[in-house]
Amino acid sequence: MELKDVKGIGPKSLVLLNKLNIMTVDDLISYYPVRYDILKRTDFNEITEDTKVIIDGRVESIPLVVRIKAGLNKMNFRLVSEDRILGVSIFNRAFLKQHLTIGTSVIVIGKYDKTKNVITASDIKLGSLGDSLKIEPVYHLTSGLTNKNISTYINMALLGIGKNVLDYIPDYLSEKYKFVSKKIALNIIHNPSDIEKLKQVTIRLKYEELFEFMFKINYLKKENLKLDGLPRKILKKDIESIYKILPFKLTNDQKTVIEEIRTDLNSSKRMNRLLQGDVGSGKTIVSIIAMYMNHLSGYQSALMVPTEILANQHYNNIKSLLGDLVKVELLTGSTPKKEKMRIYEELANGEISIVVGTHALIQSDVVYQNLGLVVTDEQHRFGVNQRENLKNKGMTPDVLYMSATPIPRTYALTIYGDMDVSTIKELPKGRQEITTILKKYDEIPDVLNLMYEELKQHHQIYVIAPLIEENDSSNLISVNELRSKMLDAFGKKYEIDLVHGKMPTATKDEIMNKFSSGDVDILISTTVIEVGIDVKNASMMVIFDANRFGLSTLHQLRGRVGRSSIKSTCILISDQDTKRLEILKTTCDGFKLSEEDFKLRGSGDLFGTKQSGDMAFKIANIREDYKILLQANKDSKEFLEKTPLENLKLRDILISKIKQQ
Ligand code: ADP
Ligand code: MG
Repeated sequence: MELKDVKGIGPKSLVLLNKLNIMTVDDLISYYPVRYDILKRTDFNEITEDTKVIIDGRVESIPLVVRIKAGLNKMNFRLVSEDRILGVSIFNRAFLKQHLTIGTSVIVIGKYDKTKNVITASDIKLGSLGDSLKIEPVYHLTSGLTNKNISTYINMALLGIGKNVLDYIPDYLSEKYKFVSKKIALNIIHNPSDIEKLKQVTIRLKYEELFEFMFKINYLKKENLKLDGLPRKILKKDIESIYKILPFKLTNDQKTVIEEIRTDLNSSKRMNRLLQGDVGSGKTIVSIIAMYMNHLSGYQSALMVPTEILANQHYNNIKSLLGDLVKVELLTGSTPKKEKMRIYEELANGEISIVVGTHALIQSDVVYQNLGLVVTDEQHRFGVNQRENLKNKGMTPDVLYMSATPIPRTYALTIYGDMDVSTIKELPKGRQEITTILKKYDEIPDVLNLMYEELKQHHQIYVIAPLIEENDSSNLISVNELRSKMLDAFGKKYEIDLVHGKMPTATKDEIMNKFSSGDVDILISTTVIEVGIDVKNASMMVIFDANRFGLSTLHQLRGRVGRSSIKSTCILISDQDTKRLEILKTTCDGFKLSEEDFKLRGSGDLFGTKQSGDMAFKIANIREDYKILLQANKDSKEFLEKTPLENLKLRDILISKIKQQ
């Protein structure tokens, strides 16, 4: 069944559902409530001024609608609840009037004003509370869709698909844990009537999601063990010669990781390693040396990054370090066609040793003569099917993933269980701690002064805002708005420019290059600069609406400054949420902050503002549900090792799902 075939979903609601990332019936039925409202009758004896109340009763007077101004009306009526009469008013629900005839039973939720004896309702529902409590699922919405709409569509879909819901838990495990069927679980999660049952099915659905996830990790681990490594013999002294041409001395952590990689490359097993390291810890150079080692043993390397800006930066970096020793090329979407053809040819005939670029590198029609190492930076690791692609080309290159989003080690060992993990903890010497300052909006004049002080010393500044366009419905500041503010303040003396994700890449690159070379003093940006950018002379970062971001994201952003010995400052501007933001003042340790994020927001923000496909759980939360995760890990491993005959089909389904990703 397709989404459009669900009863009640028309073309208009289809578009709205798509907006919520609901594309299939499966997405719809697993669109879980973000929370539940427990509707329990308020005891009037306990009411103090201005408390939220939930009561039920009968309509006592014909509702009266008063128009206040365009787009705003108010409806008033009297309600009899048990033995009292009180007033109810509600804004912009005139359409309810026809249902509220005298005597109708309603549930009213709102704020009670004791002196006026009036409830200003936020919601009115038909029906009564009865003696038991009512549990109402609350969904994340988009404008044009009500909570009721979504609930109805989900229930229609559940009716429509009948018993045909795929259950990813093998039956022997379902029996062991006394889980209800998937269908029943879905029915309950969307229409709960009993808190205890709701808890049980929530655990069941979390377990299922984590079982599937850990099955994937364990499967990948097993598959990876089957792959032989490429023959190599890289000697320690070979790389030590390269250390001499570096513009700085490597830190001990960097050296340790390089040794780990060298051992991996030399081993008969294929390398599958994750390199975690805080922002600014110097991961790039480690990957460059890895690629150099790979070159020494006669293989080609590809460095994959998520943005062209980053590709450019890495390319220039490698070129200036190794340009005399190896042939390096840059291949991105904006490489001119003729140039592309040349690069393709030189990759195929082996002339090029290192190629830097975006995802296109490992897909499409790129043919390598002998690809030996793939490095991905700041990028969600690539899936099995992409590895399959490489295998089809007759290659099983070693893989190094680099990530600046550190996650606590205990979790890393499980959720990255298919990889070996290296960690850089130490920052390069000579770095000064970044000073972090919190400011309110009415202190912007101070902020401008601080900026001016920095500019006078010929340092550069990043200014970050969450939005591109002005947006009437929120007070968030937009980058365009900021630009005019900055132009007013500094435009006469300083160069100001703007980048955002919706710009054509060529324009973005041009501006970034100007910022890198110091021709732009203030760069206003959305979070597109979050990953990887390295401009040493930038010493100040100003983040507007800082409360909009998770701590890890803010830490990533802040990591764009403090990349040299210049004293750097990060200014967070927000009127709200200051307690959480204070944490950033106390530490510059990304691991600690990710722990804090973990505590405060669960795993949701772990991967920055972008939802990572790998870690985007619908119901489970790696931190809160860690025990379930461990159990699911154990169970899925056993399931993979010795799948009962009657479950072979399920196993195939799970594997084919992995391959589709
Ligand atoms: P990240 O780990 O965030 O990717 P980078 O690799 O971009 O960090 O390194 C941050 C900056 O530190 C770069 O300018 C890089 O040249 C510099 N750097 C890396 N290692 C060292 C070192 N051992 N000593 C001094 N500077 C270093
Ligand atoms: Mg980096």
